Amino acid sequence: MTPHEIAAARPLPPRLAPVAEARARMRRTGQWHPLQSMGRRFAMGCVALEVTQRCNLDCTLCYLSDHSEAVRDVPLGELFRRIDMVRDHYGPDTDVQVTGGDPTLRRRDELVAIVRRVRDRGMRPSLLTNGIKATRDLLKELCQAGLVDVAFHVDMTQGRQGYANETALNAVRAEYIERTRGLPLSVLFNTTVFDGNAHEIPQVVAFFVRCAGTVRLASFQLQANTGRGVAGACATPITIDTVTASLRQGTGAPLALGMPVGHSGCNRYGMALVVNGRVHDLYDDDAVLADLLAATAGVQFDRQHPGRAVAALAGALLRRPGAAARCLPWAARKLWAMRRDLVAARGRAHKLSFFIHDFMDAGCLDCERIEACVFMVATQHGPLSMCLHNAKRDAFILEPIRTDAGWWDPLSGRISDAPHPAIPGRSPGLHSRKRLKGRLKAARPPGQDA
Ligand code: SF4
Repeated sequence: MTPHEIAAARPLPPRLAPVAEARARMRRTGQWHPLQSMGRRFAMGCVALEVTQRCNLDCTLCYLSDHSEAVRDVPLGELFRRIDMVRDHYGPDTDVQVTGGDPTLRRRDELVAIVRRVRDRGMRPSLLTNGIKATRDLLKELCQAGLVDVAFHVDMTQGRQGYANETALNAVRAEYIERTRGLPLSVLFNTTVFDGNAHEIPQVVAFFVRCAGTVRLASFQLQANTGRGVAGACATPITIDTVTASLRQGTGAPLALGMPVGHSGCNRYGMALVVNGRVHDLYDDDAVLADLLAATAGVQFDRQHPGRAVAALAGALLRRPGAAARCLPWAARKLWAMRRDLVAARGRAHKLSFFIHDFMDAGCLDCERIEACVFMVATQHGPLSMCLHNAKRDAFILEPIRTDAGWWDPLSGRISDAPHPAIPGRSPGLHSRKRLKGRLKAARPPGQDA
């Protein structure tokens, strides 16, 4: 996209029913095929609801903007309106990622209310956090409000003190896993793959395999040059293929990871069973996968209760005996291959999924991928592709918001009868510059503080 196209891009209202709209987008962008889950099982992969722009870390690959720390938390009523808007756009069962900044910096009672509102609207709330303030007590309260997933972002871009390398951070991951033990939560981990840790990804993957009883999804984001992050583009090529190779090395299994969700240039998804510590790929047969996808279109799997998810799958196959018959030889082969591990583990098996997400650099957006995007941000005007949003974040976070009481100003938090001008006519001013993070901070001459 050209800078002019990026500046002009706005959220669009849906034209069709949610799943049909997703299918039409996949068709328009050449991404519709038997392994495509968008437009089949989902109307949208995930919608991010940013409940604060503030963060208690300063990642070297942060997607926030230099002005994020100056922005007040969006009023609760506006977030409720956005939650309803997401429901209208994509329907029930949509995954809503409650995020920020770090969402745990939001007032606790408000964070709980946000999660409850998402769940009350029939959607699935997840919490994306660096975990620093996500105490067990908070997670428990959020579970009671309806939280489905917690995704912990942990990696070396965050500059956590006392950890020499990515593998050492497994101690932090282990502590976070302990916090969730026994809670009805699906536990995910996000890891940014960048120049500084790409060589250690196999060890991190092996850690997730060892924790497969608790960890359900290991997600890897590739280094992207966007936002206030100072690291920029990677010096060595880090691609979906190189990360796939690391995942194979770490799991010791020839993971297929051939399933894109949305555009094939954006991501890959794969699923495995961990039995007796060994990884068995479940996505190794495209024909079986296509059958399963067709049979389970419209089925919602309960991520908090694996037993119910298995029952839902069995029910879907019973309703499609033709597909079940075609899948049977594959299932028999799998069970035979796993037999020794199943005996050793006394029948216990844990699902572990892998996701690779290749966000685009802000200055290098591909129109087709934006059109096929499966990861949206809920702006005040509607959902917009995360990559596009990050490329022009200030245009949204510095814009006044119309509320029932008047115009809410994001820099002062005050309500007035008329909106203050949004950027570029306005600067956050000296006070907020003291809190600048990222690129502007890095650009200052050594020794000169804001
Ligand atoms: S956020 Fe970016 S990389 Fe992810 S699906 Fe959307 S366009 Fe693709």
